[in-house]
Amino acid sequence: MKAVVLEKPGELVLHDRDMPVCGVGEILVRVRACNICRTDLKCATVGQRDLVYPRILGHEIAGEIIAKGKNVIGYKVGQRVYIHPGISCGVCEYCKKGQDNLCDQIKIMGFNFDGGFQEVIKIDQKAMNSRVINRINDAKLAYEEISFIEPLACCVNIQDRLKMDRESVLVIIGGGRLGLLNLFVAKAEGIKNVILIEENEERRNRGKALGFDAVFNGSDPDLLKQLQMTTNNKGVDVVIPCCPGPEALDLALQILRKKGTLGYFSGISRDDAFYPDINLIHYKEISVVGSYGCSAKHSRKAKTLLESKKVNVRPLISHRVKLEELARGMDYIKNGDGYSTIVVMN
Ligand SMILES: [Zn+2]
Ligand SMILES: [Zn+2]
Repeated sequence: MKAVVLEKPGELVLHDRDMPVCGVGEILVRVRACNICRTDLKCATVGQRDLVYPRILGHEIAGEIIAKGKNVIGYKVGQRVYIHPGISCGVCEYCKKGQDNLCDQIKIMGFNFDGGFQEVIKIDQKAMNSRVINRINDAKLAYEEISFIEPLACCVNIQDRLKMDRESVLVIIGGGRLGLLNLFVAKAEGIKNVILIEENEERRNRGKALGFDAVFNGSDPDLLKQLQMTTNNKGVDVVIPCCPGPEALDLALQILRKKGTLGYFSGISRDDAFYPDINLIHYKEISVVGSYGCSAKHSRKAKTLLESKKVNVRPLISHRVKLEELARGMDYIKNGDGYSTIVVMN
């Protein structure tokens, strides 16, 4: 079977590997779609904190069960599944509270284990015990759509943590994949006023068409005034920056009202020279709420959002590549080309 292996940063190599053997308590999943995440790009180019080489990247995985070992109950060959990438211990305080994304023992597919950029992935007993396999009940949901569950679940996590209500004014900075997924989650929760700040005009127009209530250009000198007007002088309650770079973080602090809340769900590069004005947290009594990835519970909620049609990710599918074209797919992500790039396998 084919697998793309990251030998070291900058070196993705197509390998022919032996098909994994399905042992007792294990299942084999044929990967049918694996969405490329910005984290994959970061791992492939500069490396990442938890990454050990050689490694098969990819943690946004949809596929089909093709074999099951003895003692596996509740799963059938041919079932369509989403694989939650985090394998947690199940017994620590975080795991017991359903906060398994924070488990000290957590191992993540595509970081600590091989991930989805291979034709077949083995789910071993430990992963099975961690209930990483989620059956898809909706036969109409395409594998490409299923591969959005993980990033959608990360948006569910941050918004869960932010405890907004329907009247909250939410600003999302960045109208790419995660910005739009955050919009969809907010709208599914009934939040009435969701505003996009985005430099790119095409993305602003697209954002408006997909449900943002108002869209602005971040470099507009009248931005603060316009935000006051569009919120009837209420101001911005919550901001979620959805683009890399500390400038978005700085802008978030500038536009938040006093007592507002910053939702911080994806890290920024630490070697960037720009320094956000964090004193604004002090002056404006801003709350900062962080989130890291998603728990198994958030994955299930994201799956339900797709299956119930409360969220439709189809408009985000812009590029499809074959497994052997992964490097080209990474280039789309690097160049900000389109809204998503998905590795599709038959
Ligand atoms: Zn991801
Ligand atoms: Zn744990």
